[in-house]
Amino acid sequence: MREKLRGLSITTKVLLGLLLGAIVGVITYQLPESGFKQAFLIDGVYTFMGQVFLRGIIMLVVPLVFISLVNGASSMGDIQKLGRIGMRTMLFYLSTTALAVIIALTLGYFLKPGQGLDLQAIEIVEPTINEGMPLVQILYEMIPRNPIQAMAEGNMLQIIIFAIMVGVGMSLLGEKASFLTKLFESLNDLIMKLVEIVMLIAPIGVFGLIAGTMSTVGYKAIIPLIKYIGTVYIGLGIQMFLVYGTLLKVFTKFDRKTFYRKFTPAMSIAFSTASSAATVPVSMDILEKEMGIDKEVSAFTIPLGATINMDGTAIMQGIAVFFIAQVYGVTLTLPMVLTVVLTATLGSIGTAGVPGAGTIMLSMVIQSIGLPLEGIGLIMGIDRLVDMGRTTVNITGDAVCTAVIAEREGGINRI
Ligand code: ASP
Repeated sequence: MREKLRGLSITTKVLLGLLLGAIVGVITYQLPESGFKQAFLIDGVYTFMGQVFLRGIIMLVVPLVFISLVNGASSMGDIQKLGRIGMRTMLFYLSTTALAVIIALTLGYFLKPGQGLDLQAIEIVEPTINEGMPLVQILYEMIPRNPIQAMAEGNMLQIIIFAIMVGVGMSLLGEKASFLTKLFESLNDLIMKLVEIVMLIAPIGVFGLIAGTMSTVGYKAIIPLIKYIGTVYIGLGIQMFLVYGTLLKVFTKFDRKTFYRKFTPAMSIAFSTASSAATVPVSMDILEKEMGIDKEVSAFTIPLGATINMDGTAIMQGIAVFFIAQVYGVTLTLPMVLTVVLTATLGSIGTAGVPGAGTIMLSMVIQSIGLPLEGIGLIMGIDRLVDMGRTTVNITGDAVCTAVIAEREGGINRI
């Protein structure tokens, strides 16, 4: 049995962890309330298994992003190329997100997730409100005052800016920086080794995380909201397979099935952690080792995408807008719908890649068209279930963008 398990691929092992975790979680939920259930299983065993893995992988995010991006930017040695990749990536991210919102609004309009809702059956949770930040501020705050503080706080955009500057500086110095170039290459190998080590326990971690979630979900809360949850998942499915599938087919030479299969471990981790940021090391590892995509591209597109590109989140926001409008009997006018496309696309830039961030950002979208903020409270109780799916789409969008850009830049060594 042990030998058999050892022979399985990491993809199969992680999927097994996910599946078993979900089953065990649902069974745990059925158990009568007791110290054994809560303190031993949920807060003990499952939390421990999940947290050891989660913390292990999050521990690597900041050093990985910094080191690999310094490496990538310095080896590119071409500021024009860097600028071109930057522009294309931003264009790709913004347009796929806008498309995601449009898909969501169309579904929200036709499927009417908020109609016929039994308000009595819903547990209303007090929503957290996002204060919103002016766009100029978002832009200038990308430059860190203090790079060490940026790293300590895990401020991804600030780390990206600093790492690119260090990398470009090194490449301008040329020979003079050869020691640093070698050092960063070495550090890069080291950090990828550490990712591999942490990934050894990924199946157990995924098991613990999903078992914990599934044993605490309020299943009763799902039933009245099933139409909302279903509509979001239909939107996520369209984005995942139709939009990304078409992009892969038209702009890359990747076989779509192989691409999705190879990327499954990253998707499983996104699904179980509901955090794009935590998935960065795994995504980069797979894109490099399994798909042969140059780190030069992925070191930039993946951390950036995990921070600003949230297509799954945008889908949830678009559908939530219609849901809330329908619940409160508000008819959305065309200008309102266009405002949602704009605010949800821009809002996704400001959404952090951590669990629940998208729902906090939703308050900004809701406020922009004057819908009642309490509406968000209606969907908060089941948000984690939706978050798992949308995070999976969020990180797949980043990977597809990476594949498209790498294909254009000739940055793929076919494996
Ligand atoms: N959890 C999502 C992510 O990390 C963000 C969200 O809440 O929508 O990508």
